[in-house]
Amino acid sequence: MATRKAAVLRCINSGLTALDTSIARVPPKTTDGFYLSKEWRALLASVIKQRGRVCERCGRTGCRIFGDHIHELKDGGARLDSKNIMLLCGSCHSTKTVRARIIRNQRIATPSLTKE
Ligand SMILES: [Zn+2]
Repeated sequence: MATRKAAVLRCINSGLTALDTSIARVPPKTTDGFYLSKEWRALLASVIKQRGRVCERCGRTGCRIFGDHIHELKDGGARLDSKNIMLLCGSCHSTKTVRARIIRNQRIATPSLTKE
């Protein structure tokens, strides 16, 4: 009886790597040190105690509540003024932040259209 040799397949490393075709990379998310400061945390705790842990936009409760600057810091809003803070749930906070970013970017891209 003839013996059969088992065929052995070997994988050879091709040396090819994945090509990164992205044009621009998204910078890593960083936390502004201000939001970790004692002053901000104390103010936020005070606002939550005063107004309740409820989203001031949709009324949602029982979720994480974010202290959102109504007039955003990047647009020159007051950092530690409770009148510039709105308590928002994660969903409302994300929506508001994205909307503010779009408006800011439009203002930067077309300054002549947004001059008053
Ligand atoms: Zn909400």
